[in-house]
Amino acid sequence: MSDTSPAPPAAATQVDAVIIGAGPAGLFQIFELGLLGISAHIIDSLGQAGGQCTELYPDKPIYDIPALPICGAQELVDRLLEQAKPFKATFHLGQEVTEVRPLEDGKILVATSTGTRLNAGAVVIAGGVGSFQPRRLGLPGIEEFEGRSVHYRVKSAADFHGLDLVICGGGDSALDWTVALCGKARSLTLLHRRAEFRAAPATVARMRELVSAGKMQFLEGSAVAIAKDHERLAGLDLRTADGRDVSVSADQVLAFYGLHPKLGPIAEWGMELEKKALKVDTEKFQTSVPGIFAIGDINTYPGKKKLILSAFHEAALTAFAIQHHLFPEKRQFLQYTTTSPIMQKRLGVTVAESH
Ligand SMILES: Cc1cc2nc3c(=O)[nH]c(=O)nc-3n(C[C@H](O)[C@H](O)[C@H](O)COP(=O)(O)OP(=O)(O)OC[C@H]3O[C@@H](n4cnc5c(N)ncnc54)[C@H](O)[C@@H]3O)c2cc1C
Repeated sequence: MSDTSPAPPAAATQVDAVIIGAGPAGLFQIFELGLLGISAHIIDSLGQAGGQCTELYPDKPIYDIPALPICGAQELVDRLLEQAKPFKATFHLGQEVTEVRPLEDGKILVATSTGTRLNAGAVVIAGGVGSFQPRRLGLPGIEEFEGRSVHYRVKSAADFHGLDLVICGGGDSALDWTVALCGKARSLTLLHRRAEFRAAPATVARMRELVSAGKMQFLEGSAVAIAKDHERLAGLDLRTADGRDVSVSADQVLAFYGLHPKLGPIAEWGMELEKKALKVDTEKFQTSVPGIFAIGDINTYPGKKKLILSAFHEAALTAFAIQHHLFPEKRQFLQYTTTSPIMQKRLGVTVAESH
């Protein structure tokens, strides 16, 4: 008789700390844990590290990172990866964490969609807005063109140079890309359902100047259908706000209708939530479950601001809290990277002796 019972799950690997989410918060958490001698496994459902910075605005400059007056969003991620390198974290990318479960021995089981199972001393949830999905252009047959001629983000601006382009939306992303690509695309049409925009007023004013100068057109209305030329996208059929049916040629369409964040499995792991965020204290950034911490956009506490800067501070304090959680007997003291030989050894740097 054949055995039809499911195969038992693979044995879990014992690890110090697991970080869920490889956005800026999770990446800096590797570094802060590493300085204290704690190694980490880091998991992200996306195929690459970087979170919102890489996924949503890689080419945009960020101006409020301390000591970096201007830093591209992807550049920031690259720098964080470089900084974390000495600590040799294990990356599990393209895997969604589906289960986080405290065990009787105080450890926490972390399991992913692809079967990775980790038995962690501590877990840091750095899941941002959860697994976020762009709002799609809801037109019949759109699936055929998504990723090919219809996009919800710009990976490389140069891909749109010399082409007929339609940009849909009325927020910052739509307006920023309209201004950036006007003059580079062969033709550019901005489509928005009304004449008011949610974008920065200066960018809206610049767009209106470009329209007045005849460099692009703005249409107030909505897309109603895709125009096809065999397998190729030929353009969009639109209904304007004043009731006209218009066809616009397009090789490529960019639609920026915002994201709809899906907290996903994080909401089911039994931690206290407030407005879809994990409640934490501000000493340890621990959730309502001991040993499970939360940093970055996913957490909430009085005065919380969803800034990268805040996530960095939270990661530093969480690392100390995890050190205490894992090694309660160990005396904690603050060391400076400038002067601590043990931290410098962990960082793999040799510092010339001063005389
Ligand atoms: C257009 C734009 C401009 C911005 N500009 C600035 C700025 O100038 N300055 C600033 O400070 N902030 C800015 N922000 C905000 C900043 O990007 C966020 O505060 C920051 O990305 C939060 O980092 P995080 O690591 O907490 O989360 P995220 O960057 O959201 O990363 C979270 C990661 O967790 C992963 N994840 C979630 N759930 C799971 C799961 N179950 N399993 C596996 N992986 C999971 C996600 O895939 C994601 O990669 C901007 C945001 C946007 C959208």
